[in-house]
Amino acid sequence: MNHLCVGCGICAALCPQGSIQMEFSPVHGFFLPSRSMDQCDTACGFCERVCPFVPENSDTAEISRGLFGSSEGIRHDDVLGYFHGTFAGYSEEHRMTSASGGLVTWLLETLLERGEIDGALCVGPDSTSPTLFGFRLCHTRDDIRSCAGSCYQPVDLSGALRELLSRKGSYAVVALPCVARSLRLAMQANPQLRPRIRFIIGLVCGQMKSRHFVDYLIKKLGVQGNPLNICFRHKRPDRPASDFAFRFALGNGHTADAGWSECIARPWGERWFTLEVCDYCDDVFAECADATFMDAWLPEYVLDPRGHSLAIVRALKLLSIILREARLSGISLAPIVVEKVCESQLDAIHQKRTLAILHKNRSRSPESLPMIRSVDRKLRPDHQWEALTKGRIRSITQHGIASDVKTLERRVRYLATPWTIANKLLMAARLVRQMVRGEHFE
Ligand SMILES: Cc1cc2nc3c(=O)[nH]c(=O)nc-3n(C[C@H](O)[C@H](O)[C@H](O)COP(=O)(O)OP(=O)(O)OC[C@H]3O[C@@H](n4cnc5c(N)ncnc54)[C@H](O)[C@@H]3O)c2cc1C
Ligand code: SF4
Ligand code: SF4
Ligand code: SF4
Repeated sequence: MNHLCVGCGICAALCPQGSIQMEFSPVHGFFLPSRSMDQCDTACGFCERVCPFVPENSDTAEISRGLFGSSEGIRHDDVLGYFHGTFAGYSEEHRMTSASGGLVTWLLETLLERGEIDGALCVGPDSTSPTLFGFRLCHTRDDIRSCAGSCYQPVDLSGALRELLSRKGSYAVVALPCVARSLRLAMQANPQLRPRIRFIIGLVCGQMKSRHFVDYLIKKLGVQGNPLNICFRHKRPDRPASDFAFRFALGNGHTADAGWSECIARPWGERWFTLEVCDYCDDVFAECADATFMDAWLPEYVLDPRGHSLAIVRALKLLSIILREARLSGISLAPIVVEKVCESQLDAIHQKRTLAILHKNRSRSPESLPMIRSVDRKLRPDHQWEALTKGRIRSITQHGIASDVKTLERRVRYLATPWTIANKLLMAARLVRQMVRGEHFE
């Protein structure tokens, strides 16, 4: 097994001997399996067969081709994967309590109410988890609704997946791209799991942060002790949708907000506290999911603080349900061109299809890393520099705040400043060149 792990817990849930437990690592700030195949006498190999980061396992392109490639009328894009339709919209009833336009919660509730599923496996607040969030099986509309919103902290699926395996009925699972792939591998390996998972609902993902990111923010805000719960998408009425806040509940009704533009944009963009595995991930749009949802980071939507969603639908069955039910329940849903969907995720595409390949090339043992698909684009020297800078920032922050917040910020600034200046100069030079040549600005 290679060293890469996102802590999803699927290997633990599927181990036939029940020998793997997921344990939270305070050093790494996420969950890790208690053992791997090399430490196991049985050595049946199940745990390796379901892991999305074992290079020998079927890759994203292969799995999604097998699932959707032969569906009549399906289209394909190199970055988006397979799709029958792409949409923009929102649910008025859900958007204010949801991450973006509330389409995921609306869809899960609709599938449950129409009897298409018996429940949904969602991520919601869990005060017993070190990250304050956990996967859970939801069987009612209110359960599903209580899980609305995004969790930018590691969550382990093992307990909820074991429970799902012990039940009857069929479920929808909400999953990040790596988890969607792992679930598909698990469904191939374990026939009992296949009828339990009816739909995989994917979320676009640019990166996952370790628990250390929350520790950093609460220290920066001067908060004493740990928050009781976190809303990662507090929508600020006077700001664009992209300038939301993380809201920490502190007890006695007190809250503390970390605003995107004030505290989060920089550590997010420079990949402080990002899990190492995310540097080697090339799937932006959860290509193995039946449908994928994301924020509408486009100029025509971003100014509305209530949020809009974009959706990619791959499974025909889901397409017909979404179109019919959106019409019946008055959901705002309009087709959008593929180019616009890609435009909404330019940063994640740059990271996963340009920088990821450079991270892999820099590694001492690239053969132990998963396959990475690059976009057909010339790699420039500044891309090399960017990958190197972000990789170093990730590694100095991966074990948390060594001393205090100010020292950490100084160390990161020291690393990031040369690249930031060079990047600004390059952008200015490109602009001047375009002006001289009379070209359109990019
Ligand atoms: C780690 C992470 C990174 C993301 N990166 C991007 C990005 O770069 N660009 C982008 O456009 N969108 C990104 N998203 C997706 C975005 O935040 C919204 O989840 C998406 O737009 C759906 O919004 P919604 O209002 O339709 O969903 P909601 O109605 O709010 O429902 C969201 C559902 O997702 C589930 N959920 C929340 N967190 C997780 C999790 N960690 N794992 C599995 N399920 C979860 C909840 O249980 C809920 O059922 C990311 C999400 C996560 C969790
Ligand atoms: S090899 Fe892995 S899956 Fe098989 S029994 Fe050992 S730990 Fe469990
Ligand atoms: S299946 Fe998930 S938890 Fe297990 S080793 Fe792979 S990434 Fe880690
Ligand atoms: S970036 Fe990739 S590996 Fe990291 S959490 Fe997102 S989907 Fe998983």
